[in-house]
Amino acid sequence: MALQVTFLGTASGLPTPGRFGQTVVVGVKKADHDSPMYFVFDAGDGASSLLMRHGIDHLAIEAIFISHMHADHHGGLAQVVKTSMHLQRSRPLCILAPGEGIAPLKAYLAASYLIDPFLKYEINWIPIDEHVGRPIPLAGDAHLTAVANTHLNGYRRRLEQLSKQGSYRFESYSCALDIDSKRLVYTGNLRGASGHDELVSFVEPCDLLITELAHTDPAELGRFLAGRDIAHTAIAHFNRKWDQLSDQELLDLIHQGAGKTGISGHITLTRDGTVITL
Ligand SMILES: [Zn+2]
Repeated sequence: MALQVTFLGTASGLPTPGRFGQTVVVGVKKADHDSPMYFVFDAGDGASSLLMRHGIDHLAIEAIFISHMHADHHGGLAQVVKTSMHLQRSRPLCILAPGEGIAPLKAYLAASYLIDPFLKYEINWIPIDEHVGRPIPLAGDAHLTAVANTHLNGYRRRLEQLSKQGSYRFESYSCALDIDSKRLVYTGNLRGASGHDELVSFVEPCDLLITELAHTDPAELGRFLAGRDIAHTAIAHFNRKWDQLSDQELLDLIHQGAGKTGISGHITLTRDGTVITL
């Protein structure tokens, strides 16, 4: 079995001239002669166009995981659904999303005429909040286990200070995707410079950690990675301030953070179009 992870977009909340919004695709081939199936982590702005550009078949997407409801994580979802309709998808598509986001996403798709009888395939909505900590079975004997993180706590506090919390639940999730003997951990956003500490309870062991440098800090990431059983760390979701540093400068900061313990795993600073094969 071969796993191929394609980073279609690697920006954080603000796209840059060199980075589209975040979309990461895990391609799985059970055998050489099989065609791949795909799992998508977040569907940022431009996701459908980028899938096309990279030759990734919309019809082979099994599931899409939306980590939280900031628009940079789902801004491309409606067009992925629409393109799949144009390509005459008939199989159901699984969308895992924060429970608080499902009704609004459904309403947005409906407002975009992406409804029966036009759509002609079912969307199997899975509210992540109802499955936290328990493996969710997906196609191809894959399992996804979601874990809540506190990325949105600052937003909760700001609205509370204004007595305006409204109906928000401020759900945000990281997850692990287990497929065959491989384990991938994905996080859209974490909270604050040392946000990686939120992954402590479930990150080890893993074959690939896909993480962010949006709100977190390179030296703090290094401290977190030091001595851990993580074979490969792929950094995406870059805050644009880190693009002012060279790859070597960023790696130096990460390794300085790791101190004497050091990092045994590989580190990839992704760009749009980076492909990692496991
Ligand atoms: Zn966010």
